[in-house]
Amino acid sequence: MSITLSEPRLKHLLCSPGHIRITMRQSLPLLALVTAAVVSARPAARDTDCCALLSAIYPDKLQLCTAPALAPSCYFVPDITEEVATAVKLFTDNDCKFFVRAGGHHSTPGAANNGGAVTIAMTNFKQKDVDPVNNIISVGPGNRFHEVYTATDAYDKVAVLGRYAQVGTGLLLGADLSYLNNPEGLSVDNIVAHEVVLANGTVVIASADSHPDLHKALKGGGDNFGVITRYDLKVFDRPHNVLGGLVTYGEEAMPFYDDLAYDYHVNAAVNDLETHILPQWGFNGATGKRESFTPFYYGKDQPNLPPSLQPWVEVPWVHNTIRNTTALAPLSFENHDGYVNGDAQQQRTITIYADRDFFHEVSDRFHQFAQQYTNVEGFYALHCKMPITPFMVEKGVENGGNVLGLEGLDRPISILYFGVTSKSVADSDAIFAAHEEFIENLRSIAASRGLLHRYIMWNYSGFNQQVIASYGDDNVAFLKDVSQRYDPTGAFQRLVGGQKIPQ
Ligand SMILES: Cc1cc2nc3c(=O)[nH]c(=O)nc-3n(C[C@H](O)[C@H](O)[C@H](O)COP(=O)(O)OP(=O)(O)OC[C@H]3O[C@@H](n4cnc5c(N)ncnc54)[C@H](O)[C@@H]3O)c2cc1C
Repeated sequence: MSITLSEPRLKHLLCSPGHIRITMRQSLPLLALVTAAVVSARPAARDTDCCALLSAIYPDKLQLCTAPALAPSCYFVPDITEEVATAVKLFTDNDCKFFVRAGGHHSTPGAANNGGAVTIAMTNFKQKDVDPVNNIISVGPGNRFHEVYTATDAYDKVAVLGRYAQVGTGLLLGADLSYLNNPEGLSVDNIVAHEVVLANGTVVIASADSHPDLHKALKGGGDNFGVITRYDLKVFDRPHNVLGGLVTYGEEAMPFYDDLAYDYHVNAAVNDLETHILPQWGFNGATGKRESFTPFYYGKDQPNLPPSLQPWVEVPWVHNTIRNTTALAPLSFENHDGYVNGDAQQQRTITIYADRDFFHEVSDRFHQFAQQYTNVEGFYALHCKMPITPFMVEKGVENGGNVLGLEGLDRPISILYFGVTSKSVADSDAIFAAHEEFIENLRSIAASRGLLHRYIMWNYSGFNQQVIASYGDDNVAFLKDVSQRYDPTGAFQRLVGGQKIPQ
């Protein structure tokens, strides 16, 4: 396809980071805008040409950015699947670099929103239709999770989704940790169908019955195969009343925190499946102290936390909002409250086998690391320990399997998240480099103690961590094969940023 277009017909916008909507917690994380700036090249001249090509077809759906290295050359904001299909075919035919953005919360530079080229913003894909008989919700990728929770709250149902209101559906391409992990497994394993625009512009439904290889590849394979224009997710009945809320802890609780987190990994998450906690603490450079905002969920209708979670409220806490509630959307806002836009943040993750002593050691080491930066404006270090149990993995196998390579897990593993944030881009280079070194050192220590698990969770990965390779050779071979079948020219490998399949 060859179209020429005069520049003045394009709508010019200064695409600020505000457009990019990268957020993390309050004093905490804001995303890798900085990493993005460092890693990506300036937009090539032909990127602007690609915007022009697209504008010739959809002049009213394009916003051209005149500004920064951090923004794309233009945003394409389609309304329907056919428009995505036309755009993807045009990009493939013309070798145009492009990105896809859902909620804009991932921190991999070049994955969703920066460094020239075209970003397809899925913002207008707002479908959220609940089928209460078959227990499915069809979700457009433009929804944020509070919108999906609002839709399912009306039916006293819940899908296996992320816990934070403003995070988007890109989360469903990695693995996803959720309130419902313990009883139902990972979010990717509760997707019953994907509607996908392939590189050649055709649209397919990938499910257990239709293109099952693509369906499986998408459960962990990220943005390597197509643009998802609809997710059909399982929904589950829940009591009208559940328990939920956020408990805030200060430094006084920190000596107990890792024992509690360990107990959650090996006890509550394994034996009391309706429980959910996200154990996390942050070091606030401004106060020089640690603090924690820990989300709780218990999917039963009862006034108090079950015995398995009682220890969490027997240690000193500062604020506790756990209550009966009929709606999960407000909980997702409560969790998200305090995350702001605009700072520089880097995230990284490793996976270990749950181990009480090593949990303490990891926290101590990260605390020591963080204390070096008390003088840096806006410095915040966040650390989470999140379990994946053998039962969760079995659920995935029951649901048709994924490509994460976790089958056969015989004891709980812990996804360790680490994030560092600073106010100023100028401070971030040194902090990010030191953070990376810190995590690599921790990885070596975990390996030397026999505690390292090879898995790197896409959702929390750093831009240069080898996520897909961590799924194991068989899964990499499978993903390559699926890629060749559905995208023989490798358009999603060459043209789309993010975590790519190792070649
Ligand atoms: C505040 C906060 C809270 C979080 N909470 C959780 C949590 O509870 N559980 C959890 O598991 N993770 C969580 N995460 C991590 C989260 O899973 C990832 O950041 C995820 O990528 C966010 O999705 P998004 O749509 O907002 O991001 P985006 O940046 O829009 O998308 C992420 C990636 O997916 C690709 N992509 C997005 N949509 C499509 C599409 N339709 N088709 C093809 N490719 C697409 C993009 O190319 C991009 O690489 C959290 C992150 C933050 C910042």
